[in-house]
Amino acid sequence: MQSLPKSKVFVEGRYRKLSRDLPQTVFFCPSCKGHERRRKKCTQCEGFGKLTRDSVQELVGWVLAKGFGTRKHKFHGSGREDVDVRMLGKGRPFIVEMIDPKITSPDLAEMEKTINDRNEGRLEIHGLHWTEKSRVRVIKEEKHAKRYEARVTVDGDVDPAKVAEFLGQRLQLAQQTPNRVAHRRADKVRERWIEFETFEQGDEPNQWVTQVVTEHGTYVKESISGEDGRSEPSLASLLGVPCHCAELDVLEILSAEGETVVAEPSTRILSEGFGAGLE
Ligand SMILES: [Zn+2]
Repeated sequence: MQSLPKSKVFVEGRYRKLSRDLPQTVFFCPSCKGHERRRKKCTQCEGFGKLTRDSVQELVGWVLAKGFGTRKHKFHGSGREDVDVRMLGKGRPFIVEMIDPKITSPDLAEMEKTINDRNEGRLEIHGLHWTEKSRVRVIKEEKHAKRYEARVTVDGDVDPAKVAEFLGQRLQLAQQTPNRVAHRRADKVRERWIEFETFEQGDEPNQWVTQVVTEHGTYVKESISGEDGRSEPSLASLLGVPCHCAELDVLEILSAEGETVVAEPSTRILSEGFGAGLE
């Protein structure tokens, strides 16, 4: 006997992540992987199964689960930022795929408000609307440059003449896979571009603030520290003094070439509602 295909609906929106302790998706414990039985004896997560209390996926998913009458869902982000990096500006596009919903036409605006009311100061979502399955591939595969703001600790004197040489220039980078991700990414050299747009004194004598635009897939923290020459050039090598990225925020998701995106298809509203999202 053939089983019926699962029904799925897709909703799309953008998220702004205002906290530095929130991963995008469920952060399962690397030792027990959150496994129902194995986690009970796990020393790394002490039986919790996860390394953080929650995630963007869970804060959004818990409310959508109630609205749609199903807990089964998948979260698709248009790229992701590190746990400790805030996602500001207009936010990052995401799609939630709800599987086998029992409730067919929940009020998206009301769910959006619930998520925002519950997570004030941590997470905001905007423009939640019905979308189609085909959008998942689009948002996952689109390449975007990003504008970041980094708070940098500089261990030495900053020479203004050196800053003037690189400021506003599009620099070609060669980046070896950073040590911190080497366990899950192939170790190779990537060619990327970066532009340091501004470089200004921060609140402390050794603190500087820089806005940078980087090509899709650039490791921003390493393009500041240089990671002992694994990323070259870097802010550290350009200034000739050790630099460390203390805090990082995504300010804007740009086109692949680094221009501001004015209108994009993700903002359109589908009036057909539930039926439009069915496979
Ligand atoms: Zn564990």
